[in-house]
Amino acid sequence: MPNPTYVGRFAPTPSGFLHFGSLVAALASYLDARACGGRWLLRMEDLDPPREMPGAQDAILRTLERYGFEWDGTMVRQSDRHAAYQAVIDHLLQQGLAYACTCSRKQLEAHGGIYPGTCRNAAHPMTGAAIRLRVPELEYRFLDRVQGEFRQHLGREVGDFVIRRRDGLYAYQLAVVLDDAWQGVTDIVRGADLLDSTPRQLYLQELLGLPQPRYLHIPLLIQPDGHKLGKSYRSPPLPADRAAPLLGRALRALGQPAPAELDAASPRQVLAWGIAHWDPTRIPACRTLPEEQLR
Ligand code: GLU
Ligand code: ZN
Repeated sequence: MPNPTYVGRFAPTPSGFLHFGSLVAALASYLDARACGGRWLLRMEDLDPPREMPGAQDAILRTLERYGFEWDGTMVRQSDRHAAYQAVIDHLLQQGLAYACTCSRKQLEAHGGIYPGTCRNAAHPMTGAAIRLRVPELEYRFLDRVQGEFRQHLGREVGDFVIRRRDGLYAYQLAVVLDDAWQGVTDIVRGADLLDSTPRQLYLQELLGLPQPRYLHIPLLIQPDGHKLGKSYRSPPLPADRAAPLLGRALRALGQPAPAELDAASPRQVLAWGIAHWDPTRIPACRTLPEEQLR
């Protein structure tokens, strides 16, 4: 039965191939959507051409297909959404909620990553400047479906943050909020590396009068050296010929007890098992999971 009250999504960045960590994120969002008859959308987060790997978009789509994933509707590309992002930035500037910042990297480093508001009232020209959003001196909190309550004080722990970079590229924080609302996303399932971003996104939703989705952050797989899987080096593509066993392993990383016999099944059959047995309460409630602990 289709469930019109659930819209999920997977939103890969084409800076490289899908790796095992992104497979786990794709799988969690897919199963959570399909287990309740919801829709599952695909959005390519191609905001940063200099960091895009040539061919990555195609490779990501082919891998998702080989691993049996089916998304609803046509894929959205953030590179097609610049006009929408700019319109909101213009609005925020007009309202005095955002401002131009000309601080150098060196000046910023001196403050340990929390912007002290140097340019708030400087009225710098926009050209060649970053655009920052003023944050309130408030704590934002939400109840994550797996991680429980998460809170962050935007003024003290984050500071005014960039919504358009100095080189003119739009920031992830802005684009993700606008696109999730525009696509009607009700449920965000993604890696716990983004927990720290969520309060900024809640603030943007509040400011722009957008609905707040539900959140489920899955533990981030980390390598023995403590690095996030897939980020510390250019990981190889997921092997096309081992889809079923890797989906099984991804299920187990999510606490879902996929039987070993499934390794011999087709990717679609593994996904069908995952949908039928999906139990988000079994997802480990931790922010990181060492990869070597996985079977
Ligand atoms: N594009 C982001 C990533 O690949 C995910 C963004 C999100 O799920 O909100 O890490
Ligand atoms: Zn500044």
